[in-house]
Amino acid sequence: MQLVSRPWESLVAWFRGDLVCVDAHGDEPPGKIARRRLIRMIDEGEPWAAVMMCPCGCGEVIELSLSPDSKTYWTLGIEAGRPTLHPSVWRNTGCRSHFWVRRGRVHWVL
Ligand SMILES: [Zn+2]
Repeated sequence: MQLVSRPWESLVAWFRGDLVCVDAHGDEPPGKIARRRLIRMIDEGEPWAAVMMCPCGCGEVIELSLSPDSKTYWTLGIEAGRPTLHPSVWRNTGCRSHFWVRRGRVHWVL
């Protein structure tokens, strides 16, 4: 289990086509997110959201709460720069995509 992501490992993950996790600080998610990036939002030292573009290509931004205070929230694990989310992401609007993110890979639930 790798707890600290190293830049070269992120680079390898990027070339493999995996999602790469990066940290951003603040209480506002960035308006634009590069494809294959999962942004872990941190405010006052606490991760509070994971933000990514919908992997289906619909162009929508998916924001997932990481705060246990929320009604629904996800756990985000990071291994060698690659994110794992639990539980699965199931959009109830728009494209209605349903997928798991495991070690930087998107696994569709069909
Ligand atoms: Zn979508």
